[in-house]
Amino acid sequence: MTAESSPPTSVETRLRDLRTDTSPVEFVARVVACERRDVTRKSDGSRRPVLTGLLSDGTATVRFSWWDPPREGIERGVVLRAVGAEVREFRGRPEVTFSWRTRVGPASPAELPRLDADEIPFRTVRDLHPSEEGFRIEVRIVRIAQKTVTVGTERRVVHEGLVADRTGAIALSSWSDFGLHAGEAVRIAGGYVRAFRGRPQLVLDDRSSVVRVDGTDLPDPAQLLASPPRSIAEVDDEGGGEAVAVEGLVVALLPPSGIVFRCPTCHRSIRSGICRVHGQVEGQPDLRARIVLDDGTGALTVNANRADTERLWGVTLAEAEARLRSQPDPTLIEEQMLEALLGRRLRVRGVGTHDDFGVTLTPESIDRVDIDLDAAAEELSARLGDRR
Ligand SMILES: [Zn+2]
Repeated sequence: MTAESSPPTSVETRLRDLRTDTSPVEFVARVVACERRDVTRKSDGSRRPVLTGLLSDGTATVRFSWWDPPREGIERGVVLRAVGAEVREFRGRPEVTFSWRTRVGPASPAELPRLDADEIPFRTVRDLHPSEEGFRIEVRIVRIAQKTVTVGTERRVVHEGLVADRTGAIALSSWSDFGLHAGEAVRIAGGYVRAFRGRPQLVLDDRSSVVRVDGTDLPDPAQLLASPPRSIAEVDDEGGGEAVAVEGLVVALLPPSGIVFRCPTCHRSIRSGICRVHGQVEGQPDLRARIVLDDGTGALTVNANRADTERLWGVTLAEAEARLRSQPDPTLIEEQMLEALLGRRLRVRGVGTHDDFGVTLTPESIDRVDIDLDAAAEELSARLGDRR
């Protein structure tokens, strides 16, 4: 073999150990996802096929790009051995590129790196950040339910829920049926974390493994769902959470609150009879309150649905509509609602999501907390006394 025709010297490595300074490398990995497309060359306008996707060997998952890939035979699930792949870094994470210098051939799953269970690091829920993988975790299933979703043209069942350990709770989304039940303690390996609506979510699929454990150190679900309220500043710092409980005073309502009209098809709120998806529609009235709750450390928004709004306000949608007919000004309805809610102390539990405007809670429960006026007055006078 001449120096020209021999492939560059590769170092067999695990994907977790990929570094740009060990490039080129040799490894065995499974195709987890792939997509074929044509890229137009800037130089001469010609089209060049490229296959991009994700490879995993159980230690990590990396993006790959394969220039001039074979016409067929490369699909999700296939195990490959690549010799002479180049390692690059993109946004601080390694990626691999297969070029004409890379030899890629089929491999058997038995050639994938053998991992000692204790080689895979244990993580806690608090440590899980998007793109994290190659970890083990022990959690309690707090709740789990299955639903059917449409992925492309396919109907698939996904098991969604919430899992927790002593450090926190995280949403779970499993594309494989592990027969999970609320209350069970499990050890999970081969999952990964992605960001979903701004919150980390633990995702399981057919590569993941789930083992029942006794879970004596794990919180029980009832305890977790009844955890005492935390400060809004803390919840804000953490960017929301899956099982957030806060307590505070109603200080304002944000628009739209009061009577809103929704599209009968998609339930989006509509403006002047126009749904931004379905055009001109016959709007259906609904009642809602976007409550600003403040506990002295910070504020967040609670999106109360019709049932919660009716209960808190003490006015039903039908009654509100009757008021609107006699005084056709929707801002008056909002003012009356604010008058009834302002200064109330509420304890709210639910899922908190974070955006540029802060945390929004989608409540699972909203409870009114009675303020003990005598105690409050005493506390106030004690504080005033201190200042004297
Ligand atoms: Zn619509």
